[in-house]
Amino acid sequence: MIRKILAVAVLIFWILFPAPSSAKDGYPRNPDVDIIHYCFRIFLNDSTDCIEGSAGITFALAKKSKTLEFDLVGLNSKGRGMVIDRIDAGTQKLTWRHENNRIEIDIPDSLKTPGIFSLTVNYSGIPADGLIISKNKFGDRTFFGDNWPDRARNWLPCVDHPSDKATVEFIISAPERYKVVSNGLITAGYPVVSANNTRNWVSHYKEDVPIPTKVMVFGAADFAWETAGYSKGIPVQTWVYSQDRQPGFIDYKPAAEIVTFYQDLVGPYSYEKLANVQSKTMFGGMENSGCIFYYEGSVKGKNNLQGLLAHEIAHQWFGDAVTENDWHHIWLSEGFATYLEAVYADSLIPGRKLSASMADSRKSVIRYFEKTNKPVIDTTITDNMDLLSTNSYQKGARVLHMLRQELGDQVFW
Ligand SMILES: [Zn+2]
Repeated sequence: MIRKILAVAVLIFWILFPAPSSAKDGYPRNPDVDIIHYCFRIFLNDSTDCIEGSAGITFALAKKSKTLEFDLVGLNSKGRGMVIDRIDAGTQKLTWRHENNRIEIDIPDSLKTPGIFSLTVNYSGIPADGLIISKNKFGDRTFFGDNWPDRARNWLPCVDHPSDKATVEFIISAPERYKVVSNGLITAGYPVVSANNTRNWVSHYKEDVPIPTKVMVFGAADFAWETAGYSKGIPVQTWVYSQDRQPGFIDYKPAAEIVTFYQDLVGPYSYEKLANVQSKTMFGGMENSGCIFYYEGSVKGKNNLQGLLAHEIAHQWFGDAVTENDWHHIWLSEGFATYLEAVYADSLIPGRKLSASMADSRKSVIRYFEKTNKPVIDTTITDNMDLLSTNSYQKGARVLHMLRQELGDQVFW
């Protein structure tokens, strides 16, 4: 119910204040469409890497339009990619085309705009990327979403761009031996018998705060997990491979204190819980909302992971709660996370003074500038991976540090 009221409020707000269509990152935006909610059902199995999925998509449509477009990577020459079986709106079957990794759906004439509508895309395939299905360092099979920057479209039909945030549910059916973690809170778990007579366990997670697709994920593995602590009532959990239970519970333990540090400094934490998850992400850490994934080698049992935790947790505020509307503004995510990590370290990690880390950042910024001479917001970049640069991280942090010095602590914070 709350979602319905929220959806109507969003629709009114968004008709009054449409998103700017002047962004420079080349994403084919449709200013008349706003995604409100995704409900992804994914069936996993152990005999193939083929996933079966359905995506229930609820969206607001401002104006009459002939077609509607979503991202979904289609089948490639290696047999990887997604194939659509059918697209329904209630009992009505819709017609569609799936070309160049885009789905174009014909909107029925009967649809009255403006309004809020839902449709379901049924699909299956072996993900070419985005959902990493592989073996972990212990040789166990695992599944991890790894969407940044725009790799969600490899396994999720969606508007795969940070300017269109939505609430999300993941309903994951996996063989019983897996435990599943995702954004938001788990609302249900129940057994089902699948078509080939194996028992699966269904985990239903729900995230009620709108988030961008770059951070919509689930992980399925033989996890050990615990509630490591609470931060002002928010549960902070640790999820690690069962073999890494002891060292993992030590290394991820400081997360609750870090969340409290930022709640006191910046503002309330936005999500229902925070899980810190050992995973197969290709990054050192990936700031999925309420469900941060860290590289699997992060667990060493040495209790020296505070810097990495502090960076990824800072993203829950900057990058996740406050999100860049255009890829080229990524310093709003990485610059803030880098600076807040340095501020946290200054207070709580011995030997990591803010003045020293800002002096180091200054040196790397100057070296980078001598080599590239590019501005922080560099709209000539076309490969989003190239945005992960000294400019976005260290220079972004330096800009904030400069502002703080100009404004004084009280005004800045
Ligand atoms: Zn980051």
